[in-house]
Amino acid sequence: MKLVFLGPPGAGKGTIAQQAKEIYHIPHISTGDLFRAAINNETALGKKVKAILASGDLVPDEVTIEMVKERLAEADATNGFILDGFPRTIPQAEALAKIIELDNVINFTISQEQVIRRLSGRRIAKQSGKVYHLVWNPPKVEGICDESGEPLIQRDDDKEGAILNRLEVYEAQTAPLIDYYDKLGKLKNIDASKSVSDVLAETKKVLG
Ligand code: AMP
Repeated sequence: MKLVFLGPPGAGKGTIAQQAKEIYHIPHISTGDLFRAAINNETALGKKVKAILASGDLVPDEVTIEMVKERLAEADATNGFILDGFPRTIPQAEALAKIIELDNVINFTISQEQVIRRLSGRRIAKQSGKVYHLVWNPPKVEGICDESGEPLIQRDDDKEGAILNRLEVYEAQTAPLIDYYDKLGKLKNIDASKSVSDVLAETKKVLG
C-alpha cells in the first residue's frame, strides 16, 4: 500500500502513521524526521537544513526530492510506505509521480485554531520518538518520557513564531496539493479534529 498523508502541521499525520505502519506492515517515512535525524547527526545535509527547519520554511525541492528518492529505494519500501510530510509542493508531487504510482492520499483536515493549540503544547522525546501534549496527553512525570526517562523538549518550530510561519507556508505551498490529488481521484478526506482512536478508526475504514 503506497500512501501519502497530507494535512497541515499538527493534524496528527505522524501519530496516525506510527500506528498505521504496524497495522499495514509498511514503513513510516517522515521527511521531517529524516531532516531532524540529519541535524542530530550533524551530517552535511543536517548543517544545510538546520536553520530552515527552525524557521518553519521549506527545504528546497531538489534537496528534499533527492532524500526521498534514496529512502524509497531502500528494501523495506518496495511493498509500500506511508509518506508523512512529503510531498509538500506541486514540484515534489510531480517528481514523486515519475517514480511511483500512489494508491491513496489521505488528507487530514483540521482548523488553524486547533493546530495552534496542538503544536504549542506538543513536547517530544528525541530518543524514543514519543510525542506528548501538555494538556491532552501528558507524561506520567512532568517533563519526562514515560518510556525512556529522557527529558522532553519542545521542537524549535513548535514555538509560536515558527508555528504561524509554518501555517502560512502550508497554505501557500502545500494546500494546492489537495486539488492536485483530488483531480487524480486519489484523495480521501478525514476529519482530524477528533481523538487519535477515532481518527485511526476512520483511516482504517477508508483504507480497508
Ligand atoms: P514536519 O516534521 O513534517 O512538520 O517537518 C518539519 C520541517 O522539515 C518543515 O517545517 C520543513 O522545514 C522540513 N520539511 C519536511 N518535509 C519537507 C518537504 N517535503 N519539503 C520541504 N521541507 C520539508
